[in-house]
Amino acid sequence: MGDDAVKEEAMEIMGQFQVLPRLVVFDLDYTLWPFYCECRSKREMPSAYHHAKGILYALKDKGVEVAIASRSPTPDIANGFLDKLGIKSMFVAQEIFSSWTHKTDHFQRINRRTGIPYIEMLFFDDEDRNIGAVSKMGVTSILVGDGVNLGALRQGLSKFSENLSSIQRNKQRWLNFSKKLSSSKRDHL
Ligand SMILES: [Mg+2]
Repeated sequence: MGDDAVKEEAMEIMGQFQVLPRLVVFDLDYTLWPFYCECRSKREMPSAYHHAKGILYALKDKGVEVAIASRSPTPDIANGFLDKLGIKSMFVAQEIFSSWTHKTDHFQRINRRTGIPYIEMLFFDDEDRNIGAVSKMGVTSILVGDGVNLGALRQGLSKFSENLSSIQRNKQRWLNFSKKLSSSKRDHL
């Protein structure tokens, strides 16, 4: 499947959802490409997972921003590879640095840089610990087993809509409750 065919299918998948995230954040190693870039030479020509580029193009076409959150200790190699793949300029934020936290500091920076709230973000990563820590911040987070692909995109978008509608339901419940409370207060006056 070429990039164009993947892009077309990704567009179709996105068309099935009423709400889309405002920002999709990707890990690099074993999420966008199938290797640890610290183990590779800068001079190599990297290749991404088969669906990765098509998905990025489709997100951009739909007006969804994309960003990177990577704990790679070799940001120079990572940046060089993004450049060689021709996708470097697509990202509104690129946080690539090693850290003791499980990417919570990466997401704080992305939030500051973009102004986009955590609940409007979707995140793909291949490590459980990152998924656990970042989802606690309110970001819909999807664990990928074999890199990001169309299946993971569909799964991510549907989990994102579920999370958003449960937030809205809770908000409505709270509004109803506070309305009831204020009317019962009035009754007692
Ligand atoms: Mg990874």
